[in-house]
Amino acid sequence: MKESITTQGLAPLLRSLKLPAFVSYHAEVAQQAEKQGWSFEQYLLHLAEIEVVERRQRKIDRMIKQSRLPHEKMLSTFDLDRLPVKIRRQVPTLCEGGFVERAENLLAFGLPGRGKTHLVCAIGHELIMRGYKVLFSPAYRLVQRLLAAKRDLVLDKELQRLDRFDVVILDDIGYVQQEREEMEVLFTFLGERYERRSVIITSNLVFSQWDRIFKDPLTTAAAIDRVVHHSVILEMTGSSYRSEAATKRNLGDAEKLELTVPQ
Ligand code: ADP
Ligand code: MG
Repeated sequence: MKESITTQGLAPLLRSLKLPAFVSYHAEVAQQAEKQGWSFEQYLLHLAEIEVVERRQRKIDRMIKQSRLPHEKMLSTFDLDRLPVKIRRQVPTLCEGGFVERAENLLAFGLPGRGKTHLVCAIGHELIMRGYKVLFSPAYRLVQRLLAAKRDLVLDKELQRLDRFDVVILDDIGYVQQEREEMEVLFTFLGERYERRSVIITSNLVFSQWDRIFKDPLTTAAAIDRVVHHSVILEMTGSSYRSEAATKRNLGDAEKLELTVPQ
């Protein structure tokens, strides 16, 4: 028995122990250890560190993929100076994830183009770096998914799947199709997560307009109550990034045109 194991060689054994970094680096690090006179223990420690770092990176890569977060909407591509000062100061704390630990919600309100989606996605990316499981979805799509699950009598299973995420980002809750069935599954979902798991919501609609989503005043009040009870609200004011960018682009084009127009 012993012989059959040792004849396998080192690499297959390391692979069966799920230590791919040991497989890739053990020879190279052995050379380094020899040159620098490391002890056996230092050698092992160094390899183990590489294994842990790579494992963590693989986990983060997997979580980013599962999150469906748009890749480009990161904190590094977001201009924090455009935010109102009060929100700018809140961003580092939000990225640390205390609100997720406390199962609080984060609500970003504002007119289109104010950077709501970009900011919550950037926070989502930062949360993943800290080990939180995040899911991003346009609100209408999540609702469609819940509806399909309900029709197939697997709504509970779908809710359980969503429960695995520490944070679910519902982008543009105002654009959910406003039929009774849609509203009901959305309400069920919010109730399910209430006080247990965080939800991040973006919306162009202020609360006084949420009756457009939830139709009857009682359900609207109950939904708002659950969402707001433990929450951080970001009011994204300022001008539209999109229209500013478009104006700049157009101005640029106009300047270029002027340059090419024959005198
Ligand atoms: P909203 O969700 O409020 O409609 P978005 O987040 O979609 O706005 O922003 C509109 C566009 O402008 C996106 O391409 C986004 O990346 C960009 N944008 C908005 N705010 C910023 C910012 N502060 N820094 C960099 N890009 C921004
Ligand atoms: Mg948006």
